[in-house]
Amino acid sequence: MAKVEGSYLVAKAIQNEGITTLFGLPGGPVVEVIGFAAQLGVRPISVRHEQAAALSAAAYGYVRNEVGVCVLAAGPGVTNALTGAHVAFDNGLPIVLLGGSGPQHGRYSGTFQETDNVPMFKSITKMSVQIDSAARIPEYMSMAFRKARSGRPGPVYLDLPSDVLQAEVEEDDVKWPVNYFADVHPMGDANQVKKAAELLLNAERPLMIVGKGVRWSEPTEELKGLVEELGMPFISSPMGRGFIPDDHPLNAAAARSTAIRGADVVLMVGARMNWMFDFGRGFAPDAKIIHVDIEPGEIGINRAVEVGIVGDAKGVLQQILTEIDGKTDGIADKAEEGPWLTSIRDKAASNGAAIEPLLNSDSDPIRTFRMMKEIRDVFPRDTIYCVDGQMTLGTGRQVLQSYTPASRLNSGSNGCVGVGVPFAVGAKLGRPDVPVVSINGDCAFGFNAMEMETAVRHGIPAIFIINNNSGIVGGTMEAKMGLPEGYGERVATYVQDIRYDKIIEAFGGYAENVTHPEELRPALERAYEATKAGKVACINVISEHMEMMVNTATRASALMGY
Ligand code: ADP
Repeated sequence: MAKVEGSYLVAKAIQNEGITTLFGLPGGPVVEVIGFAAQLGVRPISVRHEQAAALSAAAYGYVRNEVGVCVLAAGPGVTNALTGAHVAFDNGLPIVLLGGSGPQHGRYSGTFQETDNVPMFKSITKMSVQIDSAARIPEYMSMAFRKARSGRPGPVYLDLPSDVLQAEVEEDDVKWPVNYFADVHPMGDANQVKKAAELLLNAERPLMIVGKGVRWSEPTEELKGLVEELGMPFISSPMGRGFIPDDHPLNAAAARSTAIRGADVVLMVGARMNWMFDFGRGFAPDAKIIHVDIEPGEIGINRAVEVGIVGDAKGVLQQILTEIDGKTDGIADKAEEGPWLTSIRDKAASNGAAIEPLLNSDSDPIRTFRMMKEIRDVFPRDTIYCVDGQMTLGTGRQVLQSYTPASRLNSGSNGCVGVGVPFAVGAKLGRPDVPVVSINGDCAFGFNAMEMETAVRHGIPAIFIINNNSGIVGGTMEAKMGLPEGYGERVATYVQDIRYDKIIEAFGGYAENVTHPEELRPALERAYEATKAGKVACINVISEHMEMMVNTATRASALMGY
Protein backbone atom coordinates (compact mmCIF):
# COMPACT_ATOMS: atom_id res chain seq x y z
CA MET A 1 0.00 0.00 0.00
CA ALA A 2 1.23 3.51 -0.80
CA LYS A 3 1.71 6.12 1.83
CA VAL A 4 0.78 9.74 1.24
CA GLU A 5 1.66 12.78 3.29
CA GLY A 6 -0.62 15.41 4.76
CA SER A 7 0.43 18.06 2.25
CA TYR A 8 -0.73 15.81 -0.57
CA LEU A 9 -4.12 15.33 1.08
CA VAL A 10 -4.61 19.10 1.37
CA ALA A 11 -3.84 19.54 -2.33
CA LYS A 12 -6.02 16.59 -3.28
CA ALA A 13 -8.96 18.04 -1.33
CA ILE A 14 -8.58 21.31 -3.24
CA GLN A 15 -8.59 19.40 -6.51
CA ASN A 16 -11.59 17.31 -5.43
CA GLU A 17 -13.52 20.51 -4.77
CA GLY A 18 -13.06 21.39 -8.45
CA ILE A 19 -10.82 24.36 -7.75
CA THR A 20 -8.27 24.97 -10.48
CA THR A 21 -6.30 27.94 -9.10
CA LEU A 22 -4.89 28.81 -5.70
CA PHE A 23 -3.00 31.81 -4.41
CA GLY A 24 -0.01 31.74 -2.09
CA LEU A 25 3.61 32.43 -1.47
CA PRO A 26 5.71 29.31 -1.29
CA GLY A 27 7.31 28.95 2.12
CA GLY A 28 7.47 26.53 4.98
CA PRO A 29 5.65 24.40 5.86
CA VAL A 30 3.12 24.75 3.04
CA VAL A 31 5.48 24.69 0.08
CA GLU A 32 4.71 21.01 -0.54
CA VAL A 33 0.99 21.75 -0.57
CA ILE A 34 1.67 24.15 -3.41
CA GLY A 35 3.92 21.61 -5.18
CA PHE A 36 1.38 18.78 -4.90
CA ALA A 37 -1.38 21.13 -6.05
CA ALA A 38 0.56 21.93 -9.22
CA GLN A 39 1.12 18.20 -9.84
CA LEU A 40 -2.62 17.63 -9.48
CA GLY A 41 -3.45 20.34 -12.01
CA VAL A 42 -4.34 23.12 -9.56
CA ARG A 43 -2.47 26.19 -10.78
CA PRO A 44 -0.56 27.96 -8.01
CA ILE A 45 -0.37 31.73 -8.39
CA SER A 46 2.61 32.93 -6.44
CA VAL A 47 1.99 36.40 -5.03
CA ARG A 48 4.38 38.93 -3.52
CA HIS A 49 2.55 39.42 -0.22
CA GLU A 50 0.02 37.21 1.54
CA GLN A 51 -2.51 40.02 1.90
CA ALA A 52 -2.77 39.87 -1.87
CA ALA A 53 -3.11 36.07 -1.79
CA ALA A 54 -6.26 36.36 0.31
CA LEU A 55 -7.65 39.30 -1.69
CA SER A 56 -6.96 37.71 -5.07
CA ALA A 57 -8.53 34.45 -3.88
CA ALA A 58 -11.60 36.38 -2.73
CA ALA A 59 -11.96 38.15 -6.09
CA TYR A 60 -11.35 34.93 -8.02
CA GLY A 61 -14.09 33.19 -6.04
CA TYR A 62 -16.44 36.17 -6.37
CA VAL A 63 -16.27 36.44 -10.16
CA ARG A 64 -16.59 32.66 -10.59
CA ASN A 65 -19.16 32.03 -7.90
CA GLU A 66 -16.98 29.52 -6.11
CA VAL A 67 -14.69 29.28 -3.11
CA GLY A 68 -11.28 30.96 -3.39
CA VAL A 69 -8.27 29.30 -1.80
CA CYS A 70 -5.07 30.76 -0.44
CA VAL A 71 -2.11 28.95 1.04
CA LEU A 72 0.01 30.81 3.56
CA ALA A 73 3.48 30.20 4.94
CA ALA A 74 3.79 30.13 8.73
CA GLY A 75 3.99 33.07 11.11
CA PRO A 76 4.13 36.42 9.32
CA GLY A 77 2.86 34.76 6.15
CA VAL A 78 -0.32 33.91 8.00
CA THR A 79 -0.65 37.23 9.83
CA ASN A 80 -0.18 39.10 6.54
CA ALA A 81 -3.42 37.53 5.33
CA LEU A 82 -5.51 38.81 8.23
CA THR A 83 -6.65 41.88 6.31
CA GLY A 84 -7.77 39.77 3.39
CA ALA A 85 -9.69 37.52 5.77
CA HIS A 86 -11.39 40.57 7.23
CA VAL A 87 -12.35 41.81 3.78
CA ALA A 88 -13.85 38.40 3.00
CA PHE A 89 -15.67 38.27 6.34
CA ASP A 90 -17.15 41.74 6.15
CA ASN A 91 -18.17 41.32 2.52
CA GLY A 92 -19.41 37.73 2.83
CA LEU A 93 -16.94 36.31 0.32
CA PRO A 94 -16.17 32.58 0.46
CA ILE A 95 -12.49 31.78 0.85
CA VAL A 96 -10.53 29.04 2.56
CA LEU A 97 -7.28 30.20 4.10
CA LEU A 98 -4.81 27.40 4.68
CA GLY A 99 -2.16 28.61 7.08
CA GLY A 100 1.04 26.81 7.92
CA SER A 101 2.19 26.69 11.52
CA GLY A 102 4.90 25.17 13.68
CA PRO A 103 4.83 21.54 14.78
CA GLN A 104 2.11 20.49 17.20
CA HIS A 105 4.62 18.51 19.27
CA GLY A 106 6.75 21.61 19.84
CA ARG A 107 4.07 24.07 20.98
CA TYR A 108 5.22 26.81 23.34
CA SER A 109 8.89 25.83 23.04
CA GLY A 110 9.80 28.69 20.73
CA THR A 111 9.72 26.89 17.40
CA PHE A 112 10.38 28.88 14.23
CA GLN A 113 7.57 31.32 13.43
CA GLU A 114 5.37 29.83 16.13
CA THR A 115 2.11 31.75 16.20
CA ASP A 116 -1.24 31.05 17.82
CA ASN A 117 -3.17 31.52 14.60
CA VAL A 118 -6.55 30.03 15.45
CA PRO A 119 -7.68 32.68 17.96
CA MET A 120 -6.42 35.46 15.68
CA PHE A 121 -8.81 34.38 12.95
CA LYS A 122 -11.74 33.48 15.21
CA SER A 123 -13.52 36.81 15.06
CA ILE A 124 -13.06 37.36 11.33
CA THR A 125 -13.94 33.95 9.94
CA LYS A 126 -16.89 31.58 10.01
CA MET A 127 -14.63 28.89 11.43
CA SER A 128 -11.03 28.84 12.59
CA VAL A 129 -9.55 25.52 13.65
CA GLN A 130 -6.33 23.59 13.68
CA ILE A 131 -6.20 20.26 11.89
CA ASP A 132 -5.21 17.67 14.45
CA SER A 133 -4.00 14.80 12.27
CA ALA A 134 -3.18 13.99 8.69
CA ALA A 135 -5.87 11.33 8.56
CA ARG A 136 -8.57 13.93 9.24
CA ILE A 137 -7.40 16.42 6.61
CA PRO A 138 -10.08 15.41 4.06
CA GLU A 139 -12.79 15.80 6.69
CA TYR A 140 -11.60 19.24 7.78
CA MET A 141 -11.21 20.40 4.21
CA SER A 142 -14.78 19.41 3.32
CA MET A 143 -15.95 21.19 6.48
CA ALA A 144 -14.10 24.31 5.40
CA PHE A 145 -15.54 24.34 1.88
CA ARG A 146 -19.06 23.69 3.19
CA LYS A 147 -18.84 26.45 5.78
CA ALA A 148 -17.30 28.94 3.40
CA ARG A 149 -20.07 28.72 0.84
CA SER A 150 -23.20 27.83 2.81
CA GLY A 151 -25.70 30.33 4.18
CA ARG A 152 -23.99 33.72 4.16
CA PRO A 153 -20.65 32.94 2.50
CA GLY A 154 -17.43 33.88 4.22
CA PRO A 155 -13.84 32.93 5.06
CA VAL A 156 -12.69 29.82 6.91
CA TYR A 157 -9.25 29.43 8.40
CA LEU A 158 -7.56 26.03 8.74
CA ASP A 159 -4.29 25.86 10.63
CA LEU A 160 -1.85 23.28 9.28
CA PRO A 161 0.94 22.32 11.72
CA SER A 162 4.11 21.21 9.99
CA ASP A 163 4.10 17.76 11.59
CA VAL A 164 0.51 17.17 10.45
CA LEU A 165 1.45 18.17 6.91
CA GLN A 166 4.51 15.94 6.96
CA ALA A 167 2.83 12.93 8.59
CA GLU A 168 2.18 9.96 6.35
CA VAL A 169 -0.95 7.87 6.13
CA GLU A 170 -1.90 4.84 4.08
CA GLU A 171 -3.65 6.17 0.98
CA ASP A 172 -6.19 3.33 1.02
CA ASP A 173 -7.21 4.21 4.56
CA VAL A 174 -8.04 7.82 3.72
CA LYS A 175 -11.76 8.52 3.87
CA TRP A 176 -12.89 11.16 1.40
CA PRO A 177 -16.22 12.78 2.26
CA VAL A 178 -18.64 12.89 -0.66
CA ASN A 179 -21.79 14.97 -1.21
CA TYR A 180 -20.75 17.21 1.63
CA PHE A 181 -22.67 20.25 0.48
CA ALA A 182 -26.36 20.86 -0.24
CA ASP A 183 -26.65 23.14 -3.26
CA VAL A 184 -30.02 24.65 -2.42
CA HIS A 185 -31.78 28.01 -2.60
CA PRO A 186 -33.82 28.15 0.62
CA MET A 187 -37.33 29.59 0.10
CA GLY A 188 -38.90 32.19 2.33
CA ASP A 189 -41.83 31.81 4.68
CA ALA A 190 -45.04 31.76 2.58
CA ASN A 191 -46.93 34.20 4.83
CA GLN A 192 -44.13 36.73 4.79
CA VAL A 193 -43.87 36.44 1.01
CA LYS A 194 -47.63 37.11 0.74
CA LYS A 195 -47.29 40.20 2.93
CA ALA A 196 -44.35 41.43 0.86
CA ALA A 197 -46.30 40.97 -2.36
CA GLU A 198 -49.28 42.91 -0.96
CA LEU A 199 -47.07 45.77 0.16
CA LEU A 200 -45.38 45.96 -3.22
CA LEU A 201 -48.64 45.78 -5.15
CA ASN A 202 -50.11 48.61 -3.09
CA ALA A 203 -47.03 50.80 -2.87
CA GLU A 204 -47.17 54.30 -4.29
CA ARG A 205 -43.42 54.81 -4.28
CA PRO A 206 -41.71 51.40 -4.24
CA LEU A 207 -37.95 51.02 -4.35
CA MET A 208 -35.74 47.95 -4.65
CA ILE A 209 -32.21 47.86 -3.26
CA VAL A 210 -29.85 45.24 -4.67
CA GLY A 211 -26.78 44.18 -2.71
CA LYS A 212 -23.89 41.88 -3.49
CA GLY A 213 -25.56 39.04 -1.55
CA VAL A 214 -27.45 38.32 -4.78
CA ARG A 215 -24.17 37.23 -6.32
CA TRP A 216 -24.42 33.67 -5.06
CA SER A 217 -27.71 32.70 -6.68
CA GLU A 218 -27.54 35.38 -9.41
CA PRO A 219 -31.26 36.11 -9.79
CA THR A 220 -30.78 38.44 -12.75
CA GLU A 221 -34.04 37.48 -14.48
CA GLU A 222 -36.01 37.68 -11.26
CA LEU A 223 -34.63 41.10 -10.27
CA LYS A 224 -35.33 42.54 -13.69
CA GLY A 225 -38.72 40.81 -13.90
CA LEU A 226 -39.86 42.23 -10.59
CA VAL A 227 -38.87 45.85 -11.23
CA GLU A 228 -40.42 45.73 -14.69
CA GLU A 229 -43.61 44.05 -13.53
CA LEU A 230 -44.15 46.77 -10.92
CA GLY A 231 -42.52 49.76 -12.63
CA MET A 232 -40.35 49.89 -9.51
CA PRO A 233 -37.12 51.93 -9.50
CA PHE A 234 -34.04 50.32 -8.02
CA ILE A 235 -30.64 51.27 -6.69
CA SER A 236 -27.68 48.99 -6.08
CA SER A 237 -24.94 48.88 -3.52
CA PRO A 238 -21.48 49.48 -5.01
CA MET A 239 -20.83 45.80 -5.63
CA GLY A 240 -24.51 45.04 -6.24
CA ARG A 241 -24.26 46.81 -9.59
CA GLY A 242 -24.60 44.96 -12.85
CA PHE A 243 -27.02 42.27 -11.70
CA ILE A 244 -29.55 44.49 -13.44
CA PRO A 245 -27.63 46.42 -16.12
CA ASP A 246 -26.86 49.98 -15.05
CA ASP A 247 -28.55 51.39 -18.14
CA HIS A 248 -31.92 49.89 -17.25
CA PRO A 249 -34.53 52.69 -17.40
CA LEU A 250 -35.66 51.95 -13.84
CA ASN A 251 -32.18 52.46 -12.39
CA ALA A 252 -32.42 55.31 -9.88
CA ALA A 253 -28.70 55.42 -9.04
CA ALA A 254 -28.31 58.96 -10.32
CA ALA A 255 -31.06 60.09 -7.96
CA ARG A 256 -30.10 57.89 -5.04
CA SER A 257 -31.00 60.25 -2.21
CA THR A 258 -34.33 61.20 -3.77
CA ALA A 259 -35.20 57.54 -4.16
CA ILE A 260 -34.17 56.63 -0.62
CA ARG A 261 -35.92 59.60 1.00
CA GLY A 262 -39.12 59.30 -0.98
CA ALA A 263 -39.86 55.56 -1.06
CA ASP A 264 -42.90 54.31 0.85
CA VAL A 265 -42.05 50.61 0.43
CA VAL A 266 -38.46 49.40 0.21
CA LEU A 267 -37.54 45.90 -0.89
CA MET A 268 -33.97 45.22 0.18
CA VAL A 269 -32.39 42.09 -1.29
CA GLY A 270 -28.96 40.78 -0.33
CA ALA A 271 -27.80 44.01 1.31
CA ARG A 272 -27.36 45.08 4.93
CA MET A 273 -28.82 48.05 6.72
CA ASN A 274 -25.32 49.11 7.73
CA TRP A 275 -23.33 52.34 7.25
CA MET A 276 -23.58 51.98 3.51
CA PHE A 277 -27.32 52.62 3.71
CA ASP A 278 -26.94 55.05 6.57
CA PHE A 279 -28.31 52.46 9.01
CA GLY A 280 -31.73 52.91 7.41
CA ARG A 281 -32.01 56.49 8.71
CA GLY A 282 -32.26 57.98 5.24
CA PHE A 283 -35.60 56.29 4.53
CA ALA A 284 -38.83 58.05 5.45
CA PRO A 285 -39.74 57.22 9.06
CA ASP A 286 -42.96 55.55 7.94
CA ALA A 287 -41.44 53.72 4.96
CA LYS A 288 -42.18 50.01 5.09
CA ILE A 289 -39.12 47.84 4.75
CA ILE A 290 -39.16 44.34 3.28
CA HIS A 291 -35.79 42.75 3.94
CA VAL A 292 -34.69 39.55 2.20
CA ASP A 293 -31.52 37.96 3.52
CA ILE A 294 -30.20 34.44 3.90
CA GLU A 295 -28.87 35.31 7.35
CA PRO A 296 -31.69 35.49 9.93
CA GLY A 297 -29.60 37.56 12.32
CA GLU A 298 -29.33 40.36 9.78
CA ILE A 299 -33.00 41.21 9.58
CA GLY A 300 -34.18 44.07 11.76
CA ILE A 301 -30.73 45.45 12.51
CA ASN A 302 -30.76 49.27 12.83
CA ARG A 303 -34.18 49.72 11.28
CA ALA A 304 -37.58 48.17 11.95
CA VAL A 305 -38.81 45.91 9.18
CA GLU A 306 -42.41 45.40 8.14
CA VAL A 307 -41.60 42.06 6.53
CA GLY A 308 -38.48 39.97 7.09
CA ILE A 309 -37.89 37.08 4.75
CA VAL A 310 -35.13 34.64 5.54
CA GLY A 311 -34.12 32.87 2.38
CA ASP A 312 -32.10 32.89 -0.77
CA ALA A 313 -32.56 35.90 -3.02
CA LYS A 314 -33.42 33.87 -6.12
CA GLY A 315 -35.86 31.57 -4.37
CA VAL A 316 -37.64 34.42 -2.57
CA LEU A 317 -37.85 36.65 -5.64
CA GLN A 318 -39.40 33.77 -7.54
CA GLN A 319 -41.94 33.36 -4.75
CA ILE A 320 -42.82 37.06 -4.84
CA LEU A 321 -43.14 36.96 -8.63
CA THR A 322 -45.50 33.98 -8.37
CA GLU A 323 -47.52 35.77 -5.70
CA ILE A 324 -48.02 38.91 -7.80
CA ASP A 325 -48.64 36.97 -11.00
CA GLY A 326 -51.89 38.11 -12.65
CA LYS A 327 -52.32 41.03 -10.22
CA THR A 328 -50.10 43.64 -11.83
CA ASP A 329 -52.26 44.74 -14.75
CA GLY A 330 -51.52 48.34 -15.60
CA ILE A 331 -49.25 48.94 -12.58
CA ALA A 332 -46.04 49.39 -14.56
CA ASP A 333 -47.70 51.63 -17.16
CA LYS A 334 -49.22 53.79 -14.46
CA ALA A 335 -45.85 54.04 -12.75
CA GLU A 336 -44.20 55.17 -15.97
CA GLU A 337 -46.48 58.19 -16.13
CA GLY A 338 -46.68 58.71 -12.37
CA PRO A 339 -45.06 61.33 -10.11
CA TRP A 340 -42.67 58.88 -8.40
CA LEU A 341 -40.68 57.84 -11.45
CA THR A 342 -40.97 61.34 -12.87
CA SER A 343 -39.40 62.91 -9.77
CA ILE A 344 -36.58 60.36 -9.80
CA ARG A 345 -35.89 60.85 -13.47
CA ASP A 346 -35.97 64.63 -13.18
CA LYS A 347 -33.48 64.50 -10.35
CA ALA A 348 -31.28 62.01 -12.22
CA ALA A 349 -31.28 64.31 -15.23
CA SER A 350 -30.27 67.38 -13.19
CA ASN A 351 -27.55 65.42 -11.36
CA GLY A 352 -26.32 64.13 -14.71
CA ALA A 353 -26.21 67.65 -16.10
CA ALA A 354 -24.19 68.80 -13.06
CA ILE A 355 -21.35 66.41 -13.75
CA GLU A 356 -21.44 66.73 -17.54
CA PRO A 357 -18.91 69.63 -17.65
CA LEU A 358 -16.52 67.64 -15.48
CA LEU A 359 -16.79 64.58 -17.68
CA ASN A 360 -15.82 66.63 -20.69
CA SER A 361 -13.39 68.92 -18.92
CA ASP A 362 -10.28 69.81 -20.89
CA SER A 363 -8.62 71.18 -17.81
CA ASP A 364 -4.98 70.35 -17.42
CA PRO A 365 -3.99 68.64 -15.09
CA ILE A 366 -6.60 66.03 -15.81
CA ARG A 367 -9.84 65.91 -13.82
CA THR A 368 -10.60 62.50 -12.38
CA PHE A 369 -14.12 62.72 -13.84
CA ARG A 370 -12.64 63.12 -17.33
CA MET A 371 -10.37 60.14 -16.75
CA MET A 372 -13.35 58.01 -15.65
CA LYS A 373 -15.39 59.10 -18.64
CA GLU A 374 -12.65 58.08 -21.06
CA ILE A 375 -12.31 54.72 -19.32
CA ARG A 376 -16.08 54.24 -19.47
CA ASP A 377 -16.13 55.00 -23.18
CA VAL A 378 -13.20 52.78 -24.17
CA PHE A 379 -13.99 49.49 -22.46
CA PRO A 380 -16.85 47.17 -23.46
CA ARG A 381 -19.98 46.36 -21.46
CA ASP A 382 -18.69 43.14 -19.97
CA THR A 383 -15.60 44.78 -18.43
CA ILE A 384 -14.87 44.00 -14.79
CA TYR A 385 -13.83 47.12 -12.88
CA CYS A 386 -11.84 46.90 -9.65
CA VAL A 387 -11.92 50.36 -8.13
CA ASP A 388 -9.91 51.47 -5.14
CA GLY A 389 -9.04 54.70 -3.34
CA GLN A 390 -11.20 57.41 -1.90
CA MET A 391 -11.51 59.98 -4.67
CA THR A 392 -11.26 57.28 -7.30
CA LEU A 393 -14.19 55.37 -5.78
CA GLY A 394 -16.22 58.54 -5.44
CA THR A 395 -15.88 59.51 -9.07
CA GLY A 396 -15.99 55.91 -10.31
CA ARG A 397 -19.34 55.44 -8.61
CA GLN A 398 -20.78 58.32 -10.56
CA VAL A 399 -19.26 57.64 -13.94
CA LEU A 400 -18.43 53.97 -14.56
CA GLN A 401 -21.24 51.65 -15.53
CA SER A 402 -21.63 47.93 -14.89
CA TYR A 403 -23.83 45.71 -16.98
CA THR A 404 -23.04 42.13 -16.00
CA PRO A 405 -23.14 40.21 -12.69
CA ALA A 406 -20.14 40.45 -10.36
CA SER A 407 -18.36 42.90 -12.62
CA ARG A 408 -17.83 45.66 -10.06
CA LEU A 409 -15.37 45.01 -7.26
CA ASN A 410 -14.20 47.64 -4.84
CA SER A 411 -13.18 48.38 -1.28
CA GLY A 412 -16.47 46.91 -0.11
CA SER A 413 -18.17 47.00 3.25
CA ASN A 414 -15.01 47.35 5.32
CA GLY A 415 -13.57 50.08 3.09
CA CYS A 416 -10.29 48.27 2.64
CA VAL A 417 -7.78 50.36 0.72
CA GLY A 418 -5.36 48.28 -1.34
CA VAL A 419 -7.79 45.83 -2.93
CA GLY A 420 -7.66 47.28 -6.46
CA VAL A 421 -4.56 45.52 -7.72
CA PRO A 422 -4.96 42.05 -6.15
CA PHE A 423 -8.71 41.99 -6.90
CA ALA A 424 -7.88 42.56 -10.57
CA VAL A 425 -5.31 39.75 -10.54
CA GLY A 426 -7.91 37.35 -9.09
CA ALA A 427 -10.71 38.62 -11.31
CA LYS A 428 -8.72 38.31 -14.55
CA LEU A 429 -7.67 34.79 -13.65
CA GLY A 430 -11.25 33.94 -12.80
CA ARG A 431 -12.72 35.52 -15.94
CA PRO A 432 -9.96 35.56 -18.59
CA ASP A 433 -12.62 36.06 -21.25
CA VAL A 434 -13.43 39.67 -20.27
CA PRO A 435 -11.34 42.84 -19.86
CA VAL A 436 -10.37 43.55 -16.27
CA VAL A 437 -9.56 47.16 -15.45
CA SER A 438 -8.11 48.09 -12.08
CA ILE A 439 -8.45 51.80 -11.26
CA ASN A 440 -6.56 52.97 -8.22
CA GLY A 441 -5.80 56.13 -6.38
CA ASP A 442 -2.05 56.46 -5.94
CA CYS A 443 -2.31 55.81 -2.21
CA ALA A 444 -4.40 52.67 -2.79
CA PHE A 445 -2.10 51.51 -5.57
CA GLY A 446 0.89 51.64 -3.23
CA PHE A 447 -0.48 48.94 -0.96
CA ASN A 448 -0.16 46.10 -3.43
CA ALA A 449 1.62 47.55 -6.46
CA MET A 450 4.11 44.67 -6.52
CA GLU A 451 1.29 42.36 -7.54
CA MET A 452 1.68 43.75 -11.05
CA GLU A 453 4.80 41.59 -11.14
CA THR A 454 2.63 38.60 -10.19
CA ALA A 455 0.39 39.53 -13.13
CA VAL A 456 3.32 39.80 -15.56
CA ARG A 457 5.00 36.60 -14.41
CA HIS A 458 1.83 34.53 -14.57
CA GLY A 459 0.57 36.14 -17.77
CA ILE A 460 -2.56 37.79 -16.35
CA PRO A 461 -3.27 40.63 -18.82
CA ALA A 462 -5.20 43.07 -16.66
CA ILE A 463 -4.98 46.86 -17.03
CA PHE A 464 -3.83 48.85 -14.02
CA ILE A 465 -4.64 52.55 -14.03
CA ILE A 466 -3.32 54.95 -11.43
CA ASN A 467 -5.24 58.12 -10.71
CA ASN A 468 -2.09 59.84 -9.60
CA ASN A 469 -2.98 62.98 -7.68
CA SER A 470 0.17 62.75 -5.58
CA GLY A 471 -1.40 62.08 -2.25
CA ILE A 472 -4.25 61.05 -0.03
CA VAL A 473 -7.54 62.65 -1.15
CA GLY A 474 -5.55 64.73 -3.56
CA GLY A 475 -3.65 66.38 -0.77
CA THR A 476 -6.68 67.97 0.88
CA MET A 477 -6.08 65.75 3.87
CA GLU A 478 -3.02 67.72 4.91
CA ALA A 479 -5.03 70.92 5.06
CA LYS A 480 -7.69 69.09 7.06
CA MET A 481 -5.15 67.90 9.61
CA GLY A 482 -4.28 71.46 10.52
CA LEU A 483 -0.56 70.79 10.72
CA PRO A 484 1.36 73.59 12.45
CA GLU A 485 2.73 76.34 10.25
CA GLY A 486 6.18 75.58 9.01
CA TYR A 487 5.76 71.86 9.42
CA GLY A 488 7.92 70.69 6.57
CA GLU A 489 7.35 66.96 6.24
CA ARG A 490 4.74 65.55 3.95
CA VAL A 491 2.27 63.26 5.65
CA ALA A 492 -0.60 63.07 3.20
CA THR A 493 1.06 64.11 -0.04
CA TYR A 494 3.72 62.10 -1.79
CA VAL A 495 6.69 62.83 -3.99
CA GLN A 496 4.98 64.70 -6.79
CA ASP A 497 3.95 63.10 -10.06
CA ILE A 498 5.67 59.77 -9.55
CA ARG A 499 6.19 57.75 -12.74
CA TYR A 500 4.45 54.59 -11.58
CA ASP A 501 4.42 53.39 -15.19
CA LYS A 502 8.16 52.80 -14.88
CA ILE A 503 7.37 49.94 -12.50
CA ILE A 504 5.56 47.93 -15.14
CA GLU A 505 8.36 48.70 -17.58
CA ALA A 506 10.77 47.10 -15.11
CA PHE A 507 8.51 44.07 -14.87
CA GLY A 508 8.18 43.73 -18.62
CA GLY A 509 4.64 44.97 -19.12
CA TYR A 510 3.11 47.68 -21.29
CA ALA A 511 3.45 51.23 -19.93
CA GLU A 512 1.75 54.57 -20.62
CA ASN A 513 2.23 57.88 -18.85
CA VAL A 514 -0.55 60.40 -19.40
CA THR A 515 -0.33 64.05 -18.45
CA HIS A 516 -2.86 65.81 -20.71
CA PRO A 517 -6.56 65.04 -21.17
CA GLU A 518 -6.43 64.53 -24.92
CA GLU A 519 -3.83 61.80 -24.46
CA LEU A 520 -6.14 59.70 -22.31
CA ARG A 521 -8.23 57.94 -24.88
CA PRO A 522 -5.44 56.90 -27.27
CA ALA A 523 -3.39 55.68 -24.30
CA LEU A 524 -6.31 53.63 -22.98
CA GLU A 525 -6.94 52.19 -26.41
CA ARG A 526 -3.31 51.23 -26.89
CA ALA A 527 -3.16 49.65 -23.44
CA TYR A 528 -6.36 47.72 -24.14
CA GLU A 529 -4.86 46.43 -27.40
CA ALA A 530 -1.69 45.42 -25.53
CA THR A 531 -3.74 43.35 -23.08
CA LYS A 532 -5.52 41.65 -25.97
CA ALA A 533 -2.06 40.60 -27.11
CA GLY A 534 -1.45 39.11 -23.65
CA LYS A 535 0.51 41.96 -22.06
CA VAL A 536 -0.13 43.41 -18.62
CA ALA A 537 -0.65 47.16 -18.95
CA CYS A 538 -0.19 50.05 -16.55
CA ILE A 539 -1.27 53.63 -17.20
CA ASN A 540 -0.06 56.38 -14.92
CA VAL A 541 -2.46 59.32 -15.12
CA ILE A 542 -1.23 62.54 -13.58
CA SER A 543 -4.42 64.12 -12.30
CA GLU A 544 -5.62 67.23 -10.51
CA HIS A 545 -4.07 67.32 -7.04
CA MET A 546 -6.63 69.30 -5.14
CA GLU A 547 -9.73 68.15 -6.93
CA MET A 548 -12.82 67.51 -4.87
CA MET A 549 -15.70 65.28 -5.75
CA VAL A 550 -19.02 66.72 -6.78
CA ASN A 551 -21.47 66.71 -3.89
CA THR A 552 -18.73 65.62 -1.56
CA ALA A 553 -19.99 65.68 1.94
CA THR A 554 -17.97 64.69 4.95
CA ARG A 555 -20.07 61.57 5.26
CA ALA A 556 -17.93 58.46 5.07
CA SER A 557 -20.29 56.95 2.55
CA ALA A 558 -19.76 59.83 0.15
CA LEU A 559 -16.04 59.74 0.64
CA MET A 560 -15.86 56.04 0.13
CA GLY A 561 -17.73 56.31 -3.10
CA TYR A 562 -21.09 55.05 -1.95
P1 ADP B 1 -23.65 45.25 0.03
O1 ADP B 1 -22.27 45.69 0.44
O2 ADP B 1 -23.76 44.96 -1.40
O3 ADP B 1 -24.71 46.14 0.56
P2 ADP B 1 -23.50 43.34 2.17
O4 ADP B 1 -22.23 42.55 2.08
O5 ADP B 1 -23.56 44.43 3.17
O6 ADP B 1 -23.87 43.82 0.71
O7 ADP B 1 -24.70 42.37 2.47
C1 ADP B 1 -24.96 41.24 1.70
C2 ADP B 1 -26.05 40.46 2.39
O8 ADP B 1 -26.49 39.44 1.51
C3 ADP B 1 -25.58 39.78 3.67
O9 ADP B 1 -26.37 40.17 4.76
C4 ADP B 1 -25.75 38.29 3.36
O10 ADP B 1 -26.19 37.54 4.47
C5 ADP B 1 -26.79 38.30 2.27
N1 ADP B 1 -26.75 37.13 1.39
C6 ADP B 1 -25.70 36.37 1.06
N2 ADP B 1 -26.08 35.38 0.23
C7 ADP B 1 -27.40 35.55 0.02
C8 ADP B 1 -28.37 34.86 -0.74
N3 ADP B 1 -28.04 33.79 -1.48
N4 ADP B 1 -29.64 35.29 -0.70
C9 ADP B 1 -29.98 36.37 0.04
N5 ADP B 1 -29.12 37.06 0.78
C10 ADP B 1 -27.84 36.67 0.77
